[in-house]
Amino acid sequence: MGSNPIPSAISLMPTYYLWNIGCQMNKAESDQLAECLDGVGYRRLARPDDADLVLLNTCVVRGNAEERVRGELSRLKGLKALRPGMSVAVTGCFVGGGLEELRERFPHVDLFFPAGQVALFRDWLSERVATGCHGAGVSLSAGPAAPAAYVPIIRGCNNFCSYCIVPYRRGREISLSPEEVVARVQDLAGRGAREVTLLGQNVNSYGKDLLSRADLTDLLAQVNGVPGIERIRFLTSHPRDVDEKFVDAMARLDRVCKWISLPVQAGDDRVLQAMRRGYTVEEYRRLVKRMRARIPGLALSTDVIVGFPGETEADFGRTVALLSELRFDTVHVAAYSVRPGTLAARTMPDDVLPEQKGRRLQEIEEMQERISAELNSSLVGKRVEVLVERRAKGKWEGRTRTNKLVFFSDAGEWTGRLADVEVTSASPWSLQGKVALRTEVGAR
Ligand code: SF4
Repeated sequence: MGSNPIPSAISLMPTYYLWNIGCQMNKAESDQLAECLDGVGYRRLARPDDADLVLLNTCVVRGNAEERVRGELSRLKGLKALRPGMSVAVTGCFVGGGLEELRERFPHVDLFFPAGQVALFRDWLSERVATGCHGAGVSLSAGPAAPAAYVPIIRGCNNFCSYCIVPYRRGREISLSPEEVVARVQDLAGRGAREVTLLGQNVNSYGKDLLSRADLTDLLAQVNGVPGIERIRFLTSHPRDVDEKFVDAMARLDRVCKWISLPVQAGDDRVLQAMRRGYTVEEYRRLVKRMRARIPGLALSTDVIVGFPGETEADFGRTVALLSELRFDTVHVAAYSVRPGTLAARTMPDDVLPEQKGRRLQEIEEMQERISAELNSSLVGKRVEVLVERRAKGKWEGRTRTNKLVFFSDAGEWTGRLADVEVTSASPWSLQGKVALRTEVGAR
């Protein structure tokens, strides 16, 4: 008694549950998969228990991510034993070469498809819809886009950094054509997106495989001209591939945000060489200085791995010193974990003890917390432009052009709008503020 009747059209709709972990590329691909499902009339559920289709988008970049994937797969095995009509599809970096082996090991999975192969999933789904496997299917037009959307521009990676499993799972680099990317951005802009993040394992390698030889700089110039798009980001940049032409474009193009993620990984030349990163500490330092000189107000994020095989206390000390010297806005730090099949796993013993890795990780996190707090505090009293993405826990939430998270309270409706916010307080992770002007700030 008292329960709301479910409209019959909705109750007949097939349902899906989508589980996603990992990088922004996975998030972007999950958004595309969800679009496919929404487009043929599936309804998304928050839990897998009653779903007609369960879709896992997986990550194996570190050992603990892979354990989570295995945990989900075994949970689904139990669920499928109870509800044999449920379908299970798995994608992401867990799906490498050996599809046959995966099918044998996980017979309760109906479809394994490699990361990024959305077309394969779409074909499989169309067949199921056509055969009435999950209801008749309702053709719907694509709904509104998020204010800030992700657009993959290059898949795979050719670098083979010695610790990284990505090239083995996502394959070699394949760039989308500039026409495909621009069409996708136009579509998103037409559905309300105001910011796009162009995604790739190494976006600065974009276009090397294209006949036209269009590169990331050319692509940024084209996307910069798409009406409705106010902000452009890109993620991730390999330091070795960042050239002067690109730095100039970043400085010049008005919609390109002055923010870059530039993973350094280590501050010691011997470790960098063992990682096969292709640059020295001095080359990295000079690049950061050049970029900062050319792009005033540039915000920088970096990634660091601690406890790489053979990393001594002195090597680690040099990483700490570099981070302290360059003062990044954000640092993502991870403890090295062996990824089977990589060069490091095959040839370098994992000889840094887990407690040493844990201590080094904590040392960097604590230092970075202080640096981020200082950098963010310098913004108190200043005005920042915020693209509002959502309302959560009674506050509006968005990001500055420099990718800082901002919260503010206001009675108006701000989703998808640019707000001029005065920063009133700061923490290492975010800023709090109040609306400085009641009108939306200018587009450019
Ligand atoms: S650049 Fe290196 S770390 Fe990044 S995806 Fe490629 S191989 Fe992995």
